[in-house]
Amino acid sequence: MTEMLLKYFREQQKQVETERIYNTQCPYCSMQCKMQLVEQTHVKRKTYKTIGRDNPTSQGRLCIKGMNAHQHPLHKDRIQYPLLKVNGEFVKISWREALDYIKEHVTEIQEKNGADALGVYGSASITNEEAYLLGKFARVALKTKYIDYNGRLCMSAAASAASKTFGMDRGFTNSLQEIPYTECIMLAGTNVAECQPTIMPYFEKAKENGAFIIAIDPRETGTTKIADLHLKLKPGSDAALANGILKVIIEENYLDERFLQERVNGFEEVMQYVASLEFSVIEEITGVPLEKMYQAARMFGQRETGMIFTARGVEQQTDGSAAVQNFLNILLSVGKIGKPRCGYGAITGQGNGQGAREHGQKADQLPGYRSIENHEHRMYIADVWNIEEKGLPRKGVSAYEMIEKIHDGEIKGLFLVCSNPTVSNPNANFVKKAFEKLEFLVVADMFESETAKLANLILPASSYLEDEGTMTNVEGRVTLREASFPRRGEIKHDWEILCEIAKVLGKEEYFSFSSAEEIFNELRIASKGGIADYSGITYERLRAEKGILWPCRSLTDKGTERLFETRFAHSDGKAMMVPVSNQAIVPKAKITKKYPLYLTTGRVVSHYLTGVQTRKSASLSARNFESFMEIHPSTAKKYEISNQELVQIESSYGRIVVRSKFSEGIRPDTVFVPFHWADSQNVNNLVSEKLDPACKMPGFKVSAVNISPSVKRSSY
Ligand code: SF4
Repeated sequence: MTEMLLKYFREQQKQVETERIYNTQCPYCSMQCKMQLVEQTHVKRKTYKTIGRDNPTSQGRLCIKGMNAHQHPLHKDRIQYPLLKVNGEFVKISWREALDYIKEHVTEIQEKNGADALGVYGSASITNEEAYLLGKFARVALKTKYIDYNGRLCMSAAASAASKTFGMDRGFTNSLQEIPYTECIMLAGTNVAECQPTIMPYFEKAKENGAFIIAIDPRETGTTKIADLHLKLKPGSDAALANGILKVIIEENYLDERFLQERVNGFEEVMQYVASLEFSVIEEITGVPLEKMYQAARMFGQRETGMIFTARGVEQQTDGSAAVQNFLNILLSVGKIGKPRCGYGAITGQGNGQGAREHGQKADQLPGYRSIENHEHRMYIADVWNIEEKGLPRKGVSAYEMIEKIHDGEIKGLFLVCSNPTVSNPNANFVKKAFEKLEFLVVADMFESETAKLANLILPASSYLEDEGTMTNVEGRVTLREASFPRRGEIKHDWEILCEIAKVLGKEEYFSFSSAEEIFNELRIASKGGIADYSGITYERLRAEKGILWPCRSLTDKGTERLFETRFAHSDGKAMMVPVSNQAIVPKAKITKKYPLYLTTGRVVSHYLTGVQTRKSASLSARNFESFMEIHPSTAKKYEISNQELVQIESSYGRIVVRSKFSEGIRPDTVFVPFHWADSQNVNNLVSEKLDPACKMPGFKVSAVNISPSVKRSSY
C-alpha cells in the first residue's frame, strides 16, 4: 500500500466519531464463516466494513464474498414494503392489504381446486428455524403436499447416497480439524478454491504435512492446482472412474478385509460386478489413462489414512446419487471411515445446505430427517404439532417436478421463499413459461429477482444481518447466527411472514411464535429421536460452545465430532455397498455431429447461486460483471473463435450468448460456463430437464452443445 493511501486511511480513522459492531455469519456458502459488520460514524457519513471472527470452522478467515457481504443488504434496491402488481407495475401496499390479498387468493384457489393447488418452494439459504417452519406452514396452514426447495438442485444426490450407504446423511463424517492430518485426499468434482475458499487452508495444511492430493475434474481450477494428481475426466464419467479405481484396489488387494467382513454388507456383489468390467472400456468412457487410475488407487489404498470429498461435479448428474455411492464404495473397500483422519465429506454449496435438508422442506420429509410416509414418524410429528395424523399430507414431488405440475395447471399458486427458480432450474425457458402460468405467485425476498418480477405480490424479507437463527454448516455443526442490525422500512423476517399468513388463514394457534429461539425450541422437540437429532442443542449452548455437531441427543451430550466409529446408522449397524454401473439409467447428453462439445457448469469465486445478492455488490460484480465460456484455444481455433469474443452456445433446449475465455486447462472436448447470470446469459437455458431417478437431481453437469461466433464478422 502506498504512503498516500495509508495517510488517507489514517485521516479517515481520525474522523470516526462512533463505532458499532454487529456479530453475524456470512450469508453465502456452507462454511458459514463468523464475521462482524463494523459500522463507523464519521463527521458527515457512515461507513461499513466486514471482518472475520474466530470460530472453529473458518478460524477467522473470510473470502472475497464474505469481505463484501455487507454491500447487498445495504443496497438501495432492497425491497422495504409489500409490493402488489397492478397493471404490470409493482405498487407499494400495506402489510394489512398484502395479508388480505393472500387470504382471498388462497381461499379462492383451494376452494375451487383443492388444497394441493397451492405449492411452497423453499431455500437452503434460510435458517433452520425458517426451513422447519416452512415445512409446517405447507402441511398445517396450507394443508398441501406440494413443498420442495432449491437444495434439491444442490445436495440431493449426496444426501441420497449417504443415506443409502451409511443409513444417515450428515455431509461430513468428521470435523474439519482432521483434514490436515490425513495422508491421502480425493477431491472429486469440487472446486473449493472458488466455492468455499476458507476451507482451502485445511487442504493446504494437509499437503504441507505430506498428504497426497488427487483431484477429479474436467478442468484445471484453483483447487486442482494443489493436487499431486489430476484426473481430467470427461464430464459425466465419474461413476465409471470410481469403478476403475475400485478395480485396481481389488486387483492389487488394498482391501481392509476385516472391516469389510465386520462392518459392511454388499462387498461381494460389488467385487463381482467390478471384476466383470474392462479397464479399456473405463478408459474410453472416462478419457483418463489407466496408469493414472492405478496411481490414484495405489496412493489411496496404500496410505494409512485417507478422506474422500465430493461436490456438485459428481452429484449434479442423472446418476449423481449412484456416482457418489461408488466413491463411498472406494472408501469402504479400504476401511477408511469411522476412525481418526479417515472419512467422507459432501461439500455443501448453500449456506444452510445441511440444516435446510433435515427439518421438513423436502417433499417426502418431516423434521429430524423423518419420513412423511412412515406411520410412526407421522404420529410423532402430528403429536408435536398438535394435529391429527390423518390431516398430515403425504409426500409431494421434487422441485423441478413441481414446476412441471405448474406448467400442467395442477398447481395454480405458489409461495416462494428466498430462491430464484426461473434461473436456477434446468430447462430454464420452460420454467419461466410455467411461472408465467401461475394464477397466484407470492415471493418473499430482498430484491426483485428474475422470479420475483413475475410475482403478483412481493413481501420484503430480512437479510442475514437482521435475521437471527441457526445454520448448520458444511461439517454438520449447528451454529447460532446472531443478527441485530436494524431493519429498514417494513421488512419482516421470513418466520414472521409465515406466522402472519398462518394467522389470517385461521391457523394462529399453530404459529404463535414470537422469536426464532421459540421456533428452535419446537424444532428441538420435533427432531428428538430422529436421525438429525438437535434436542440437546440450545441457543445458550451455541453461544457458549461456538457450535455443536449433530446428533446431540441431550443437554449433556457434547455432540458428535466423528460419525460411525462403532456402527453405521442402518438397523444392523453395517454400511451398504452396491454395484454401480458405468452408465446412468437415465442417459446423459451425448456429443453428436450437431452438438459436438460437452458443456459443464459451475461457480466463480465472486458470485453466489443466481447472483441475486452478489450482483448487487459493487465490489463483487466488478470482478465478474458478465458470464463467460471457458474454452481450450485449440477448440476455439477450430470454431474460429477469438479470445474475449461473444459466442453463441446452443443445445437442443435453447441458446445463450456469452464471452469466450481461453484456457489451456480445460479438456478440448468441453466448454465451461458459470451459472450466476440470467436471461440470455443463463446457462440453464441449455440444460436438460432429465432427473436422477434416485434423488431427482437434474443433470446440470453434462450437456451437449454447439458453439459459434455470435456476430458475423465483417471485414474492413
Ligand atoms: Fe466464508 Fe463462504 Fe462466506 Fe467465503 S462465501 S466468507 S468461505 S462463508
